[in-house]
Amino acid sequence: MQFCPTCGNHLIVSVDENGTNTFDCRTCPYRFPISILMYHRHEFAQKQVDDVLGGKEAWESNQQTDIPCENKNCDNRRAYFFQLQIRSADEPMSTFYRCTECGYQWREN
Ligand SMILES: [Zn+2]
Ligand SMILES: [Zn+2]
Repeated sequence: MQFCPTCGNHLIVSVDENGTNTFDCRTCPYRFPISILMYHRHEFAQKQVDDVLGGKEAWESNQQTDIPCENKNCDNRRAYFFQLQIRSADEPMSTFYRCTECGYQWREN
């Protein structure tokens, strides 16, 4: 449940003239587009991906699993991995891998 920051009443979910979902206050003109929340959540997740994909050190703090490297020139069967929700909450998590030998990176989902 969301509350109006101006008058403190419960906000209702409605749709504005552009088809955007918004939180609307029924007692004052306050209106907040829900898409802004979604956007920021996505941006945050993307930053996490960039951070982890960025450096060897970041990867080495992740767990390892037994999985064949997807690099055709590498026969290593061990990779660092982590899971991240990068889309909406009702979709499966994406799993990112990085080979412990050659550093090749790939992603599932
Ligand atoms: Zn209000
Ligand atoms: Zn490899």
